[in-house]
Parts: sequence; C-alpha cells; structure tokens
Amino acid sequence: MGRKAGVLVVQRIAAGLVDGTQVAGAPNLFPEKGESHDALLAMPADAIAARIAELVSSVAGGEPPTVLGVGFPGIIRNGVIEESPNLQQIKGFRLQAALEQIFAEGGRRVPVRIYNDADATAAGIAATRGVLHKLNRVWTLGNGVGFGRYPWAEGTWEGGHTVVTLDPKEQFCGCGGRGHLEGILGYRAMRMRFLDLEPEEVFANAKGGDPRCVDFVSRCHRALAAATATSIHMEGPGPFYLTGPNARWIDIGVLDRLVHEMVKMSPLQGSRIELIPPSDELGIVGAAVNAERAIAG
Ligand SMILES: [Zn+2]
Repeated sequence: MGRKAGVLVVQRIAAGLVDGTQVAGAPNLFPEKGESHDALLAMPADAIAARIAELVSSVAGGEPPTVLGVGFPGIIRNGVIEESPNLQQIKGFRLQAALEQIFAEGGRRVPVRIYNDADATAAGIAATRGVLHKLNRVWTLGNGVGFGRYPWAEGTWEGGHTVVTLDPKEQFCGCGGRGHLEGILGYRAMRMRFLDLEPEEVFANAKGGDPRCVDFVSRCHRALAAATATSIHMEGPGPFYLTGPNARWIDIGVLDRLVHEMVKMSPLQGSRIELIPPSDELGIVGAAVNAERAIAG
C-alpha cells in the first residue's frame, strides 16, 4: 500500500501523511501553533529543506513514504524554486534534489515533487471534491495573491500578477510591476496604500460607509473579477475557488455579478465562484496527490 506524504509551506511548514484524499491525523507544524510566523524568513534554504525532511520522517513514523509532494510559494520549475518573493533566500534552490538527498543519506529512496503552493491547494480541492477530471482554479488571498490550477500544467501561471488596471499610479505590487492584481488585493500592498489604516480597518470602515474605503473595496472586487475574466477568456469557464486568510473580505455575490458583466460570449458562460475556508490540509493533500500522479504517469 502506498503511503504518500504532503507538505505545504506558506508562513509555516505543515506536513502530513495522506490517506486517500485525507490527511491522516493532525499535520506536523513548524513553527508550531502560537509561535512566531517569521521563523522561516531567517532560515537558510538548507535548513528549511532539513526541517521539511524531519517533519515528514516524524509523521511517517520511521517508515519512509512512497512519494512526497511539497507545495511551496513562488515560481517552481523542475524541482527548483526559481523565485519566491517572501522567502528570498531560497531563490534558485534545488529543493527537490536537496530533499531526495537528505532521504538518501538516511538510506531511503523517496521520490519528491515540488509544486507552487496554490497549485497544491487547487489539487487538494479537486481531490477532496472528486473532480480530478475537471479544470479547477483557485485564488489564494494573503500577503500576496496566489493563483493555482488543477490539473497541473507546464507554465508560469502567475495569475496574481495579472494586469487589471492601466493606471500608472498603481504600483504597490511586491514584484514592482505596475497595475497588478496583487498590488490592489495583496495584504502588503493594502498596507502600503493606506498608511494610516490596517487592511482590517479599511474593510470595516467600508461597511460603515466611509467613501474612501467603500471606493477601495469596490476596486478590490473589480480587480479580482477582471483577473478571473481574463483567466476565463484564456482557458474557458469553470469553477473558481477563493481561499486564504483574506478571502473572507470578498463578497462572492458582487464578484460573481462583476465577472458576468465582464464575460459575455455564450460559450464562456457557466463559471461559478466559491469561498473555501483556509486550511493546510487541502495543500498537503493536493501536493501528495499531484506527486503521486506525476510519478505514476
Ligand atoms: Zn506583481
């Protein structure tokens, strides 16, 4: 029987054994709940790899998994982290080779595959809902804006950096590019835009009718609708899932209406948008499922 393991790295590392489409038991975390989320920022790439291997060995209880999938933020290609804006020290790091090497040194052969974290979440949603035969897309709203899709496909897929405005003053994206979705909807970008208010206060004030905040919240919805419409125009209609710590600020009804205003061609109708509570488990399951399918294929 195959024992596949999955890992999701976002602000912390979460590792679990995956049984079918569920995490068996509670995921192993580093840093643990309640500890500072900044621990990864100061860790060298080698140390992050060592910690991932340690957590996986510990959940696997001594017996190595048959396959390990890792979801990691950034642009991932062939097991290499080509770019990871929030963990700069790992840029260029060959994470897949490093992990396979650590297991090999312990006398175990564990094939490893690395995916973008949002792609892992998209795979987890598709697996847990039994829709692995369909195109599933996900927006993750947090410090940045992630875009994931299942089935995994070769490409860059940096949907969070979709250009949604031609306004040259829109320059808050963490990547430095102008007019990007993340420059409007990313948490870091919101803090730079509203130097006097935290993003939580902006959304609360908008509910209270503050015109400046109402205007911004409307812009957030239009920006996300525009990026979604672009994805529909490129890849066709289908379900979109919205998750991550800040997805709760989005009014799905408003978003849905805006997308329908932006997508009018009849063969492209029929998309729907659904809010999914953030969870490490979806990414763990998805990374493991993607890796298992990649190795089997
Ligand atoms: Zn950008």
